Amino acid sequence: MKLLEGKNAIITGASRGIGKGIAEVFAKHGANVAFTYSSSAEAANQLEKELQELGIKAKGYKSDAADFKQAEELIKNVQQDFGSIDILVNNAGITKDNLLMRMSEEDFDKVIEVNLKSVFNMTKAVQRTMLKQRHGSIINMSSVVGVKGNAGQANYAASKAGMIGFSKSMALELGSRNIRTNVIAPGFIETEMTGKLDEKVVEGWREAIPLKRGGTPEDIANTCVFLASDLSAYITGQVINVDGGMLT
Ligand code: NAP
Repeated sequence: MKLLEGKNAIITGASRGIGKGIAEVFAKHGANVAFTYSSSAEAANQLEKELQELGIKAKGYKSDAADFKQAEELIKNVQQDFGSIDILVNNAGITKDNLLMRMSEEDFDKVIEVNLKSVFNMTKAVQRTMLKQRHGSIINMSSVVGVKGNAGQANYAASKAGMIGFSKSMALELGSRNIRTNVIAPGFIETEMTGKLDEKVVEGWREAIPLKRGGTPEDIANTCVFLASDLSAYITGQVINVDGGMLT
């Protein structure tokens, strides 16, 4: 069954990893997909073609989610190209890990801008459209680290926890217009972001997860389909942990 037939979605940071997985699964469920990237033009072109072959409308946009003006411009362009916007997935994110003692001001600011300010930029830019049409689903990609903290990731944890407070506030502000805002907190999902980690450390993590494996982009994408679709019509302001039981 195609759960997103005819809906238009924007996904930030979809040239690889979780965002790419969401774009693919959304397209398989019949959604038209606008997606962004920051520098991977070739990967974006490839994904655009791959999605179009599934028979939906797809387009990649180079757009820095951390930049307020670029986010406004992006929404304007997507609006023109697709007509309406039903789903926004704020997925773009980066890490710049270090113990606080060694964390520079620049690395703190950069992570907050890309991970958290981007959510403000995109939500503000899309809200007029969603308010007018009186429906919308916004999905924000936080992290298990935003829920419980992590040594060496104070900047990342702050950005991901900030997304939760922002999302709950949007659920309260926009609920009366049938705009739902929910958060996904992925655990350990095996992508390029985590590919940088030491294999021994990764093996230890897998062992500590109740389901005994790292997650896949599809695990997250399937939860996004649920939150984007009408199956979750009565769910807003929630944080869903998709982590193999890590936080249990
Ligand atoms: P990834 O493989 O590093 O991919 C990140 C994506 O974001 C890329 O498409 C990248 O585009 C894009 N991006 C980076 N900065 C951007 C910017 N300023 N504007 C627009 N796009 C930008 O990461 P991932 O593992 O898929 O993670 C995706 C999201 O899930 C992130 O928010 C991350 O924090 C969260 N998350 C991941 C895990 C995990 O275990 N992997 C766990 C919890 C939460 P380019 O290719 O052009 O650079």
